[in-house]
Amino acid sequence: MEKKAYHQMYDFIGKTAVITGGAGVLCGEMAYALAECGANVAILDKDPSLAKRVLERIESTKGKAIAVYVDVLKRDVIEKAADEVLKAFGRVDILINGAGGNSPKATTNPEQSFFDLPEEGFRFVSDLNLLGTILPTQVFGKVMVQQKEGVILNISSMNAFRPLTRIPAYSAAKAAVSNFTQWLAVHVAQEYSPTIRVNAIAPGFFLTEQNRFLLTDKETGQLTPRGKKILDHTPMGRFGDPEDLLGAMLWLCSPASKFVTGIVLPIDGGFSAYSGV
Ligand code: NAD
Repeated sequence: MEKKAYHQMYDFIGKTAVITGGAGVLCGEMAYALAECGANVAILDKDPSLAKRVLERIESTKGKAIAVYVDVLKRDVIEKAADEVLKAFGRVDILINGAGGNSPKATTNPEQSFFDLPEEGFRFVSDLNLLGTILPTQVFGKVMVQQKEGVILNISSMNAFRPLTRIPAYSAAKAAVSNFTQWLAVHVAQEYSPTIRVNAIAPGFFLTEQNRFLLTDKETGQLTPRGKKILDHTPMGRFGDPEDLLGAMLWLCSPASKFVTGIVLPIDGGFSAYSGV
């Protein structure tokens, strides 16, 4: 490889990145990073006011982005969003499926046993994480098939490798996201183009709004017993910062990883490597 090419590995100039859940804590940071690297970024999210904040941050540093309303569970809405993205930027090089999360209705606690969890909680979490990854992939993946190239990055989780206590629906749904990542990587490479790649990252524990009060006490800010247990099992001894995901994200979305497809990469401070002894 020519020396010049190394410098171009992380060059995203002229590429279009579509990020669902792009207004959220983790994916908002990814949107900003991709724009900083020169990509045109489409922030697709259900929350317009959060999306506006990410958009303004990108524009304040002269990055190029649009914010588009989407509900990842409604195919017709995703198709409309895709029309807007294509009108603005003409192509789709990267899709990050970031919309996802858990719900208190699918979380066990002393007042709510597994046996009493409502069906709607399971359905909501399972749909948001799995179907919410599949539907945008169908819509934007079709564009990549026409282009014969593209990169899809799904967001799985630590609990996909081994389920975490209390969150059965989220654990099962993220395990399904990891499985789907491998399935799709093989399918598109064999049936459409070996230059369409599909990977996932599996973040460990990042302190965000979604889990803050499972991990820290609302009043004191001290670690909850669950938060302490997690840190005790994290060799690096801390929670992740959203920035910790960026190197892996840029690598998997760039030509630097052009022979990598079908992997689920843990970013967890060593949590998954540690047996506890
Ligand atoms: P977040 O709640 O900050 O962001 C999620 C974003 O998705 C929000 O902006 C929300 O408006 C949007 N969204 C929710 N439902 C939507 C829908 N139906 N259609 C479109 N947009 C929708 O969460 P986060 O912590 O930044 O998580 C981002 C991703 O990372 C999720 O998939 C989450 O499951 C995963 N993850 C998070 C952690 C963590 O520790 N925070 C760990 C592992 C995996």
